[in-house]
Amino acid sequence: MMTTRRLAVAALALIALLALPARAQPNLYFNANIYTMDPAQPRVDTMLVEDGLILAIGSNRGVQDSMRQQGIRVVRKIDMGGKTILPGLIDAHGHMISLGAIGLGVLDLRAAASYEDMVNIVRDRASHVPAGTWIIGRGWDNESWADKRLPHHGALSKAIPDNPVWLSRVDGHAGLANEKAMQLAGVSSAMTSPAGGEIVRDQNRLPTGLFVDNAESVISAVIPEGLTGTAEECILQAQKMCLAAGLTGVHDAGLSPDEVDTYLRLEASGALKIRVYGMVHAKEAPAYFAEHPPYDGFKLTVVSAKAYMDGAMGSRGAWLMAPYADRPTGPEGQPYTGLQVSQPAEIEALVRDGLAHNYTVCTHAIGDRANREVLNAYARAINDWQPVTPADATPRRYQWFTSADARLRVEHAQLLSFDDVPRFAAMGVIASMQPTHCTSDMRWVDARVGEERARGAYAWASLLKSGAHLAFGSDFPVESENPFLGIYAAVTRENLDGEPAGGFHPEQRVTREEALRAYTIEAAYAAFWDERVGSLEANKLADFIVIDRDVMTCDAREIADTKVLETYSYGELVYRAE
Ligand SMILES: [Zn+2]
Repeated sequence: MMTTRRLAVAALALIALLALPARAQPNLYFNANIYTMDPAQPRVDTMLVEDGLILAIGSNRGVQDSMRQQGIRVVRKIDMGGKTILPGLIDAHGHMISLGAIGLGVLDLRAAASYEDMVNIVRDRASHVPAGTWIIGRGWDNESWADKRLPHHGALSKAIPDNPVWLSRVDGHAGLANEKAMQLAGVSSAMTSPAGGEIVRDQNRLPTGLFVDNAESVISAVIPEGLTGTAEECILQAQKMCLAAGLTGVHDAGLSPDEVDTYLRLEASGALKIRVYGMVHAKEAPAYFAEHPPYDGFKLTVVSAKAYMDGAMGSRGAWLMAPYADRPTGPEGQPYTGLQVSQPAEIEALVRDGLAHNYTVCTHAIGDRANREVLNAYARAINDWQPVTPADATPRRYQWFTSADARLRVEHAQLLSFDDVPRFAAMGVIASMQPTHCTSDMRWVDARVGEERARGAYAWASLLKSGAHLAFGSDFPVESENPFLGIYAAVTRENLDGEPAGGFHPEQRVTREEALRAYTIEAAYAAFWDERVGSLEANKLADFIVIDRDVMTCDAREIADTKVLETYSYGELVYRAE
């Protein structure tokens, strides 16, 4: 006969059982084709997830065993029907606010087929807004036009006389202003170019409307803030676009302290679903380092600064060791080797300051000279650096005991001298590179730098062979945020039409496995996230995606057409295809 006491216990057990559905039930994903990025078991079929955490992963039988050991009996079974699961992809270099701004209405000029075409797009917008309203656009690329010459503001100013207009080139390293915008900025023929920038002039020494690198701020300084939605609106818009593309993490390459605060608010409110590694603009970094300890939150990590050594190759702003093959001399007849936008000593000082505050540094370097100078500056900064020894250190997550712990990075590393390739691995410097830059730029890279130097362009395979950490991204919105376009570009070095057949300098292609690693565990490593995400393993966070094909075995061309079916961040379904 059941005692009262036993009844009470049974009732409690029943209540507990009834209460179970309120608690998250573990999800058992089975019959899946899972690429884990874990070398111990690269490909498995079953994964158990609870409260955002992977409890077990492996063969169905292995996971059942693990469930028994963990005393888990009730699970929600989800038959994946053989579908492919990958760790959530991570873009190691993007610009969320610019991407969101395009989503929210900044004119997207990437499809403009000519200068006239671009002027028509702007004229159409001008006819829908009051006179005096700024019109901002971005993404034009004269290299994709029949007439590849850089545009002159004349046609733009004639077509749009009443609205100030600012149109950024695709690489973000040059922009075209119309007459009205130049008036507002007080541009005159007497104005001199700032250091590290160029106010481009015609043969009469009059500004052509083109402002390169540091000179862009002449115009951008007079553009009112919040023209294209608030930072928060832009981030949320970009987040939507990234989650739909299969990205569960992004490295946002350049934030103001205000923008970091926006991210912090979004994280605190639970609206930030994507993981973000935010880099603070170098010019604001010293004050930021002094006032804020490194931050590592639930979704947001802020432990680095973003500096620039040079411009971009498309606008001939990349800093080269020898003159450009297609513009050997500058306006005064001097040898022209591109633009140096900061002093190596400034990069060195920033690294010293960063290391002293447990921050690290990511530096944009495109030309071979810029890359060498950044590596030299890094080497000088870490040579005589004295780490805080573990004994006197207050334990905290970001504590650099060796210089390699700081995971210093070079962003882009596009053109390298082969002498510099092994220095990345030797110094523990991460190469953060963008495969689609290669397939967009290959049309003109040989012309810019000559075929011999171009062998060291986008040298992914050489870097991997040397033992360097290689992280991949897109530099969105310069390129599409779709990471499968990047994986396709990395393994083929062909454009979407399959050209050039066999690939541009094909010896630098990487395998699918290597490309996927660069978009997952290596991008996680570059953000100090490798212990929590980047591979699917027990006790890691459940950031994963379900896709419509097996990207490891399908025809290479079909990688680019991959559709994301579902995206999970910390176990939560954050995107599902319609
Ligand atoms: Zn960038």
